[in-house]
This record gives sequence, structure tokens and C-alpha cells, in this order.
Amino acid sequence: MIKVNEIFGPTIQGEGKNAGKPVVFLRLSQCNLHCIWCDTPHTWNWKGTKFAHPVKFNQKEEEHSQRIDDVLQAILEKAEGEIKSLVISGGEPLLQQKELTELLKKLKALGWYAEVETNGTVPLRPEFADLIDQINCSPKLANSLDPESLRIKKKTLGQLAANPKVNFKFVVASEEDIPEILSIVELLRQSGNPEIRLMPLCQTREELEMREPLVKELSARHNFIYCTRLSILMSGTRRGV
Ligand code: SF4
Repeated sequence: MIKVNEIFGPTIQGEGKNAGKPVVFLRLSQCNLHCIWCDTPHTWNWKGTKFAHPVKFNQKEEEHSQRIDDVLQAILEKAEGEIKSLVISGGEPLLQQKELTELLKKLKALGWYAEVETNGTVPLRPEFADLIDQINCSPKLANSLDPESLRIKKKTLGQLAANPKVNFKFVVASEEDIPEILSIVELLRQSGNPEIRLMPLCQTREELEMREPLVKELSARHNFIYCTRLSILMSGTRRGV
């Protein structure tokens, strides 16, 4: 069984190396972090929990345990016979790698491409790593207000950086984030030479436009790739699009 929040598409991958690509989106339930600015709290911030993130959700309404074959069927229906690219997001998808491995085996047999998004705290299982095509890792900074002991797992970050399928992306609130980013990048470069992206912290088009000039300037100054958020530009805060 896979704990699913929603499956939707066709849509456009909004961020990272494949930004702009037509995809089906599989959003999974549950996360091991609780970032204060999380834009998908409906995957983990259940009523009755003590997390500081302000908006609470009903777990029974948001989380759906589905058989792997039913998830596959829903993905194929959303693809409308045209698209063969899947984005697996969350929440934290790597919490369900064992189940996802079974799903990926079936999708790969049908010729699909699949990418996954992760916060970089859960070690990659070899079988899952072999099947996935692209891994977008976004380690969380102090601006998330998650405790450092939860959000930075040096051994796991090293394992991810050593895998050429992995790119990294940092969510930037202000210039004060740069020393922490540089320190994590130094750690990553002890294991590999992954692409590094900086993306503005934003939940609205206005926030994106406000931070964009600074994050572009910081990207250029530190030789990182600037990353926008097409989903905010296209759909704002609407879900399932
Ligand atoms: S890791 Fe991602 S899904 Fe989890 S709380 Fe942070 S932003 Fe939200």
C-alpha cells in the first residue's frame, strides 16, 4: 500500500532540471520534517499535532492508502496515453521507497521516466536508486525552523551527492542563508559535484517577485543555477494543478 495525498495531471514540472516538462504528479502523504513555510502541510500537519505550522488538516481526508496497482492505474489514466513522465513529491517520498520501488518497476516496464523530490534526510535504497531517473534534493536550512539535528544528515547528504542522478536546491529567504548554504555545498563537494540551484522562498507570485532579484544576484555571485517556481507563476496556491 502507498500513502497517497493526490495524483494529478497532465501538469508541468514547476522546478529544477526538468522545469517545464509535461508530467503526471504523484503527491505522497507524510513527512519527517515540519518546515514553518511548507506549502504542502496537507501531507503531514494533522489536527491534534503540536507542529508550529499554522494550518491543520484532517488526516483521514488527506491521506489515502492505495494498492500499488491502483496507484499505477490512476497515473496511467491521468497521463491520457500521451505523457510518460512522473514526478513523485510529498511530503517526503523516500519514507515509502520500498513501495515506490514496486511501482517504479511497473512504470519502467512501460517506458516511463520518473523523478523524485526529497529533503535529503532519508538514505537512498539501492534498488530504488537504480530505478529512478532523477532525484531533486532540497536540504532544509535554518529558515525552515526545523531543528538542525532533524534536517541535516551529513552521511545521507554525502550518499546523495555521490550519485550523479541527484541535483540540489536550496530555498532562500534572505542573504543570511548564504553562509549555511556554502557550508552544506562544501560538504556535498566532498562526495561529488552535483548541480546546485537557489530558489526564492515564496508561496505567492508577489513573494516570488519580491525575492527574485536577490536570489538571481546571489546565484550569479556564487556560481549556482537560479531556479524559479513555475507552479506559483501558473497556478498560485491552488492544489492539484
Ligand atoms: S520537507 Fe518539504 S514537505 Fe516536508 S515539511 Fe519541509 S517543505 Fe514540507
